[in-house]
Amino acid sequence: MRNHVMAGNWKMNKTFSEAVELASGLAAELKGGVGDVDVIVAPPAVDLKGVAEVIEQEQAPFALSAQNVYFEESGAYTGETSPSMLESVGATYCIIGHSERRGYFGETDEDVNKKAKKLMEHGIVPISCCGESLEVREAGKHVEFVCDQVRRDTEGLDLSDPSKYIIAYEPIWAIGTGKTATADDAEEVCGAIRRTLAEVFGQETADGVRILYGGSAKPGNVGGFLEKDDVDGALVGGASLKADSFAEMVRAAM
Ligand code: PEP
Repeated sequence: MRNHVMAGNWKMNKTFSEAVELASGLAAELKGGVGDVDVIVAPPAVDLKGVAEVIEQEQAPFALSAQNVYFEESGAYTGETSPSMLESVGATYCIIGHSERRGYFGETDEDVNKKAKKLMEHGIVPISCCGESLEVREAGKHVEFVCDQVRRDTEGLDLSDPSKYIIAYEPIWAIGTGKTATADDAEEVCGAIRRTLAEVFGQETADGVRILYGGSAKPGNVGGFLEKDDVDGALVGGASLKADSFAEMVRAAM
């Protein structure tokens, strides 16, 4: 039995005060509880502490995620953030390998794998993103491409507690474009990811890892994805920037 996950990726949006306002708004929207859904918000790094304070003060039913991390403990890595730093401000999840990080900042599968290992040493749950470009999908190679990514991203990880590792399947052509994959498209790839995990780590582990869909998910379409056996929730960009829309998606996952 896998609990649903609804994770909001705020990307490079919201100043400190705006982030606090959004977190407070979401706390108010979700006052009635979220059942057994794991609700997660991922504000920009400079907003983490402010959102952590809102969560604590308002006893909000959501957890805090970072959007990125570096895989060294400390030192001369200007501009980077270590897992201990994330831990110190209350982040319990961290997105890694987002296609925007891979595309604009050259993040590789090797980096994603190192980041996952380091986060897990600190007890922070990685939300590890994978997904194909339009070119790969049009060539009919998307399943093979994504499963290869997952093999590389998970190499050597200790998944003995599979609830502590989350995968987000995000077809790049569907992110922020308004073009959504169909629920069947998502299930095809999420199912293949789960079979890959079963081959590498065994069926029990594969059955415990949550696999999310991401790419223009919104209140009107999220229900269709959640009905699929291998889709355990959503990683949401644009629609997570409004408390009422995101809360509606959380309720759809309950
Ligand atoms: C994302 O940022 O991970 C994402 C899926 O964005 P959007 O929902 O805006 O497509």
